[in-house]
Amino acid sequence: TKEDVKSYLFRNAFVLLTVSAVIVGTILGFTLRPYKMSYREVKYFSFPGELLMRMLQMLVLPLIISSLVTGMAALDSKASGKMGMRAVVYYMTTTIIAVVIGIIIVIIIHPGKGSKENMHREGKVVQVTAADAFLDLIRNMFPPNLVEACFKQFKTNYEKRSFKVPVQSNETLIGAVINNVSEAMQSLTRITEELVPVPGSVNGVNALGLVVFSMCFGFVIGNMKEQGQALKDFFDCLNEAIMRLVAVIMWYAPLGILFLIAGKIVEMEDMGVIGGQLAMYTVTVIVGLLIHGVIVLPLLYFLVTRKNPWVFIGGLLQALVTAMGTSSSSATLPITFKCLEENNGVDKRVTRFVLPVGATINMDGTALYEALAAIFIAQVNNFELNFGQIITISITATAASIGAAGIPQAGLVTMVIVLTSVGLPTDDITLIIAVDWFLDRLRTTTNVLGDSLGAGIVEHLSQHELKNRDVEMGNSVIEE
Ligand code: ASP
Repeated sequence: TKEDVKSYLFRNAFVLLTVSAVIVGTILGFTLRPYKMSYREVKYFSFPGELLMRMLQMLVLPLIISSLVTGMAALDSKASGKMGMRAVVYYMTTTIIAVVIGIIIVIIIHPGKGSKENMHREGKVVQVTAADAFLDLIRNMFPPNLVEACFKQFKTNYEKRSFKVPVQSNETLIGAVINNVSEAMQSLTRITEELVPVPGSVNGVNALGLVVFSMCFGFVIGNMKEQGQALKDFFDCLNEAIMRLVAVIMWYAPLGILFLIAGKIVEMEDMGVIGGQLAMYTVTVIVGLLIHGVIVLPLLYFLVTRKNPWVFIGGLLQALVTAMGTSSSSATLPITFKCLEENNGVDKRVTRFVLPVGATINMDGTALYEALAAIFIAQVNNFELNFGQIITISITATAASIGAAGIPQAGLVTMVIVLTSVGLPTDDITLIIAVDWFLDRLRTTTNVLGDSLGAGIVEHLSQHELKNRDVEMGNSVIEE
């Protein structure tokens, strides 16, 4: 029909616009690079991209809450329990496969050959132990203040600091006070400089805490039957309204992506510093991510659903490109929702339930990357890892990917956990920072791909529960 043709053109216009955005952004970036813009000029130039980031982040919070509450409330406890189990099994399996691929690839290619002395370093690394990070992760699951959780995550500073100021004998009282204050101020700036993104946080938002709360809340509302209807309607309506806003942003997204990519290319470090080992390392990560994203995940999708994975992935294109542009699976979440529900027709009860959790804890690309990077660092240090240590790396890389927030370069921070667990020098993270902005985009794309295929797989496995529920409910509210 005419409507169908219109919607087909509409969808393809999006794909076309998105792909052109990447191409034009890349060309524009490389064209402008020789002009060596100042930091401020780059900021002005990439402003349209910054706006896209802000718009997406603006919607993430209400989206996570409303979709999880309605997603949980739309299912009975047995169905949500089963679906939850399937999602968790999928997340764990694919994450472990990703880690194993990372390990095998880095051992085979061995990018760390040679000494690290001539490698370039950038930035500085903060020390956190695995136990600290783990406890913070659990703490963040239970935010003591929900309102605060919407703009602030929790982070414990495990180091006790004392501000000792030597008071000289000829010093006046007021002088000592001023001295003390300035010393304290200095320590304060030191602490702020050392703050690292906290596990489970999205740009300061405690996403993990909100996910846990919204799930419990939705579960309770779902069990309240009639009495809970008003709240269910409220969150349903909220979710629908947010999704309409997402539809508007979708039109702006290609322009934003264009400038995000162009801006990054303009400001990136000269490739000169990326010498032999680092170049090999980059190639190794790309090969690993490709094996996982292009072979393993689609194959898994095909084996479970018997449907063509490429048709499914085709529908996800805009989400994947947005992931590449923003380096953040959380910021991409609104677009992921739209693609899955509208292009791929995945049941809303599944997406609302599975996607926010996936974006927060399921990160295949990050897991693969963390294991691979840790072994690379061992290689450049000529550090022989025994089998037990490789197992330790796989476990901590999995944990670190769960703990990493869906924000740019969060994976780099949780690397510290993996390295300390086997006694590798955490300072060597500075060796891989130069290429991380790029690899981050690729692993974020893999993360979003994993979450989305997971939604498709969980939907397929849960058909039975969904149908039962439809019959029970006379197929109301959710299907619209
Ligand atoms: N940027 C990634 C994401 O948002 C996390 C990471 O740094 O690996 O999915």
